[in-house]
Amino acid sequence: MFTLISTARVYPPNEETLLDTRTVPGELKWAASPTEGGWEEVSIMDEKNVPIRTYQVCNVMEPSQSNWLRTDWIPRSGAQRIYVEIKFTLRDCNSLPGVTGTCKETFNLYYYESNNDREHYIRESNFLKIDTVAADESFTQVDIGDRIMKLNTEVRDVKVTTRKGFYLAFQDVGACIALVSVRVFYKTCPLTVRNLATFPDTNTGADTSSLVEVRGSCVNQSEEREEPKMYCGADGEWLVPIGGCVCNLGYEEKSGACQACTVGFNRAVSTDRACSKCPPHSHSEKEGAAVCDCNPGYYRSESDPASVPCTQPPSAPQQLISEVNETSVVLEWSAPLRLGGRKAGSILCLPCSQDVLFSPQQSGLRATRVCVSELQAHTRYTFTILARNGVSQGHSAGAGQSVSVTLTTNQAAPSPVTSIQAGDVTRHGVSLAWQQPDRPNGVILEYEVKYYEKDQKESSYRIMKTASRSADITGLSPLTVYLFQVRARTAAGYGEFSGPLEFSTNSDPLPLIGDAASSTLLLLSISGGVILLLTSTAVFIISRRYKHIWPQKNKIYVDPFTYEDPDQAVHEFAKEIDASYIHIEKVIGIGEFGEVCSGRLRLQGKREIYVAIKSLKAAYSNKQRQDFLSEASIMGQFDHPNIIRLEGVVTRCKPVMIITEYMENGSLDAFLRKHDGHFTVIQLVGMLRGIASGMKYLSDMSYVHRDLAARNILVNSNLVCKVSDFGLSRVLQEDPENAYTTRVTGTYHSPGGKIPIRWTSPEAIAYRKFTPSSDTWSYGVVMWEVMSYGERPYWDMSNQDVIKAIDEGYRLPPPMDCPVCLHQLMLDCWQTERTHRPSFTQILNMLDKLIRNPTTTLRRTGGDRPVPSLLEPVGGPEFVSVWSAEDCLQAIGMGMYRDTLTTAGYTSPDSLLTLTHQDMTSIGIITPSHQDQILASVQQVLLSHMQQIQEQMPDSMVPV
Ligand code: AMP
Repeated sequence: MFTLISTARVYPPNEETLLDTRTVPGELKWAASPTEGGWEEVSIMDEKNVPIRTYQVCNVMEPSQSNWLRTDWIPRSGAQRIYVEIKFTLRDCNSLPGVTGTCKETFNLYYYESNNDREHYIRESNFLKIDTVAADESFTQVDIGDRIMKLNTEVRDVKVTTRKGFYLAFQDVGACIALVSVRVFYKTCPLTVRNLATFPDTNTGADTSSLVEVRGSCVNQSEEREEPKMYCGADGEWLVPIGGCVCNLGYEEKSGACQACTVGFNRAVSTDRACSKCPPHSHSEKEGAAVCDCNPGYYRSESDPASVPCTQPPSAPQQLISEVNETSVVLEWSAPLRLGGRKAGSILCLPCSQDVLFSPQQSGLRATRVCVSELQAHTRYTFTILARNGVSQGHSAGAGQSVSVTLTTNQAAPSPVTSIQAGDVTRHGVSLAWQQPDRPNGVILEYEVKYYEKDQKESSYRIMKTASRSADITGLSPLTVYLFQVRARTAAGYGEFSGPLEFSTNSDPLPLIGDAASSTLLLLSISGGVILLLTSTAVFIISRRYKHIWPQKNKIYVDPFTYEDPDQAVHEFAKEIDASYIHIEKVIGIGEFGEVCSGRLRLQGKREIYVAIKSLKAAYSNKQRQDFLSEASIMGQFDHPNIIRLEGVVTRCKPVMIITEYMENGSLDAFLRKHDGHFTVIQLVGMLRGIASGMKYLSDMSYVHRDLAARNILVNSNLVCKVSDFGLSRVLQEDPENAYTTRVTGTYHSPGGKIPIRWTSPEAIAYRKFTPSSDTWSYGVVMWEVMSYGERPYWDMSNQDVIKAIDEGYRLPPPMDCPVCLHQLMLDCWQTERTHRPSFTQILNMLDKLIRNPTTTLRRTGGDRPVPSLLEPVGGPEFVSVWSAEDCLQAIGMGMYRDTLTTAGYTSPDSLLTLTHQDMTSIGIITPSHQDQILASVQQVLLSHMQQIQEQMPDSMVPV
């Protein structure tokens, strides 16, 4: 019996055992060959009395031994290299008495790879030899019976990669051996965590030198810093760790894992190794906090790291003192009481217009004083001073940290006029034009031109007043150097004079344009014609020069709703009329706020005129009163023959009233329906021209009407059309939702704010983009209404269908007998892309061209008839038929102003059409009744002139 020294089965962690004879229960029953007399299975007891199986052979006396012992099939389980550890005893031949040369002291180890786990017979020659095993010097002594034996342990390894498993074989060639145990194993690099990456249990490679590259995966709650990698060496050792992972924020590394920070702790930066306690005024309520949240009322700025304490915005600055000096304001204050735990704060002022100057600056102030200048005169401003520190953004909690003051700037005179230009210079005169002052500080009431001979200095100067931005200075001495200065006046008084402009009058008589025109006219009128034809060249020169010397007026419309006190706006733009001067006669309509009556107004020192009186119904709210009067505040800013003229307002007694000029024929849509087919095309175009001219004036003043429609055009007894109804812009502004809530049902604006779908451009319907271009769209619809004598646009289609049709590219067809070019103009106004629509200046030019040259332009598609010789253009294809301003003035009994007007540049009927009350006052036509007469009659005379042309035109031009 063997007695074995302790052989407890504890395997190294990097070895996976495939077979261990000492743990196999029962007999091994390996295949032995020969079955008898060769290897023999012998059970013995180990030191713990556990039976173990051994194989023994001892045929030392017989020659030519070849005893094979083959194991059962051993699955290789993914191993590529297996190790065979054999514990055996081997008798020393010398110790055996009487043995001859047959005794051996070695045995051979073989293997055979196979997928078959139950091979019956494997030919010995199929086995591959692993090694010849001999007993070596290192052994353990074993008691065998009464003798002591040496227990050898030999390990051999071999590559097994081709089959699922293998068999081992032991060949005895004549030794005396006992195989005490056989263990077969392979080596692995065991599961491990390095640098927070887990590397799985990995089989070593097939060769003794091979390294298996393995990618690790980050442990829970960690993320890759650099790809984690290691190599599994052949002996089952991990080598060369590369890269690794880091714990997520809120977690820290502990024993190769990432553990959540406990409550009250956080880990906010990846470079911090461990969790740390929440900084002051912050807390964490759950485990694993990356950032500790600020306690209520405490904040961190965007740039604050999570490691710093939470802080508070500063309290409001204190003791704000303001001082107004005309259009400048100086603000001073003391530092806030509490700075909130941060370093010194800075202030931010709310955004202001770009023109406003802040000294030293608007934001980021360190000092507690700022001077704000270039403010608008007589305007209410609110200044908010906000003490800020790094946590104020988004947490400013408004009033808590800011202090405000609301104050009104003083009245201030306009800034000086700049850029004076001299136009035509003659022996006795010069034309001047200039720009509006940069800061008018109110509505400019007039300009004053001061001029004097340079040699005389200012001792004897002359003054000329004008409401426009141009002046014709006459009565100068020839060949003399003059100095000119201009200043503007508002309700606040005069601004400073501009720097002097030096100019010398001519020596040669060089006629003024007006002179040239009138002499031409004189010649032509002597030839007996009532209608005078000027060559296009002449007209071209006139209009070119006219434009050059008298630039477009650029008075800008002021929204009355920008006034804090609406009454202030009304009285800035409208005259208060004593109710006793008004005689109401009859009700002529119903407006949004009450009845509209006609009546008479007799102002002191003026002749009685007919007026329309809009009154505000008895029970009105404050807002209704404001809304009602806002129309007057708007209308009062306009002065144009095609804009309804405001006479004044009655606000100091009830009912509150708005008095406008009376338009005998009422609104254009009803008027046209009543007179269906009664007008010539040219008369209709004349009406359209008037409307376009009014609209051009409005767009030049940056006023967007938003409700241009025939119903809002009024017609007087001379068929002059004037734009009216200035209320919608406000209605939509105040309640933006209305445009949407009612857009599909509404056809007309009301206090509820309906949008006039059929007249409104798609972009204004869709997203309230109201611009002069959206007014152009509406103008196209008005053209259609006019040319169809008040037909309802899109007939009975629903608003929904109209919107859809427009969106799909559908446009209104030409009304009956509408000249192609007019319909084309409508289509241009209805371009979907608003920037492609014509401006009112372009529309006006186009209509003027049509009116001047009706035979070629207003011809219908049907007829290409020869033009009668009477209207054949003279001297070239672009000849224009124009009646002169002089004739026009004669016809209305105002011939005495011929020179005044021509000198001021009003040489063509076109230019007369642009005259306003202010223009006339500024050039010296000051009698109000004369002004009215000129304004009222010029258009009528021009229209009847067109009528005369019409009567001489081919049939095709006459409406059905
Ligand atoms: P409104 O409130 O401006 O829409 O005016 C209601 C109606 O009163 C209009 O449709 C016109 O028929 C009439 N109306 C308004 N103003 C005048 C006026 N200045 N001259 C004549 N009729 C006017």
